[in-house]
Amino acid sequence: MTSVVSAHPPAEVVVDHGPRLLASIGDTMKLATHRELWSDPRLSRVATGQLIEWARAVGIAGRGGAGFPFATKLAAAVKAAGLVRRPVIVVNAAEGEPASAKDFALALTVPHRVLDGAAATAYSLRCNEIHVVVPRDRPLVGEALRAAIAERRDAGERLSWKVTETGPGFVAGQARAVIEALSGRPGLPTTAWQPEAVSGLRGRPTLLSNAETWAQVGALVTLGPEAYAGLGADAEPGTTLLSLSGLPGLAPGTVRVVEVPYGTQWSEVLGDAVSRPVLVGGFHGTWAPGGALASMRVSRVAMGAMGAMGLTLGAGVAVLLPDGECPVAVTAAITAYLASESAGRCGPCFNGLPVLAAEVSALAGCDVGASYTRIRDLLGLVERRGACAHPDGTARLVRSMVTVFEDEVVAHLGGVCRIAEDGLRARIGEGMATGLAGVGVRAGVGAEPRAEACGEARAETGVGRP
Ligand code: SF4
Repeated sequence: MTSVVSAHPPAEVVVDHGPRLLASIGDTMKLATHRELWSDPRLSRVATGQLIEWARAVGIAGRGGAGFPFATKLAAAVKAAGLVRRPVIVVNAAEGEPASAKDFALALTVPHRVLDGAAATAYSLRCNEIHVVVPRDRPLVGEALRAAIAERRDAGERLSWKVTETGPGFVAGQARAVIEALSGRPGLPTTAWQPEAVSGLRGRPTLLSNAETWAQVGALVTLGPEAYAGLGADAEPGTTLLSLSGLPGLAPGTVRVVEVPYGTQWSEVLGDAVSRPVLVGGFHGTWAPGGALASMRVSRVAMGAMGAMGLTLGAGVAVLLPDGECPVAVTAAITAYLASESAGRCGPCFNGLPVLAAEVSALAGCDVGASYTRIRDLLGLVERRGACAHPDGTARLVRSMVTVFEDEVVAHLGGVCRIAEDGLRARIGEGMATGLAGVGVRAGVGAEPRAEACGEARAETGVGRP
């Protein structure tokens, strides 16, 4: 990949002190010191109805990417549960997104914050079974959480914790993929006819949430809703973790994890680098043009300034485009990676994404055969046609590149990359049918045509076939 994005987990993670979840990093890795600051959830015993009310009042939403309201999920699990169908709790720390390191940071610095949230909810629901899903390609996460669970057992906690490894892979952390892995099958997404909260692991109501979500629930149970809302914005209480890469001074492959209250200015988070283009929300995210975030605040509210630009925080990832990096080349690299991560179950995803990736790659390479029309058609063929959101997320990324970096896309279609030195090319030929609305096509000198290769690729892979 390029210098700013990688297909692998970060080589190094820098964790900053934060205002709440990360307030005591370095001090509260161990249960004894953690308990000096945060009470034992066995003592809280918040009734389920109250927990639903509190979670709704402060608006805790899933931090794994989907942003689903925790209160709604909990209410559905309560409704679906009965004497026989005891709910199951799942802590999803799989973190398949290579640019994300927040769950890694939580597990390694404050693991009991995460486990407290799951334990408090288990006591509230009167269930005993908690699964913790950890990524095989980030073994330190499993080690840290296993050690933390052992401490809790030694301290007399009687919950049944089970740690399961999953992945590696981008879609390994998807909710249904996690249920599959816990069921002893390959950890790949499947079509779900009912939400996991109604019918998940072994058909039981399954409250599956991301590690950060559980840490936020733990904070809510310990603090209560008023104190929890003491940080953040009036309309959006609390804090969120962010995984930042591409920051000036950070080596390639390094991710900085920070915790900020909602409503914090992005310019405070990113400093002068806020003037750069930023990929917000991770590899399934959306490009923000350079400087666009300067006047915005960190938020997950769809009606806010970020939402109005189609920018969603997702798993809290922000990848800054370094000076000298071509956004088209970066998008092409990510698209190729995402295409390789298809679980291979749905035709439009398995067949379509590689062809889409090839087209975006051709564009990034200023190839003669590059065609905006084909990219646009492929986006239409893959969107909303997968069992999971992988094709939609990939299409969102490519769409935002075309929209935000229209000038660069036009330049590439004309055979020139204006940013990356090694991308400067010229070519022979004119009148290439780019199809980019309102755009003139330039002629140049140099590269070999690849239109036939594109045609062959499409024929072989059969885009759009079920
Ligand atoms: S859409 Fe893609 S990743 Fe998702 S289940 Fe289908 S083949 Fe797998």
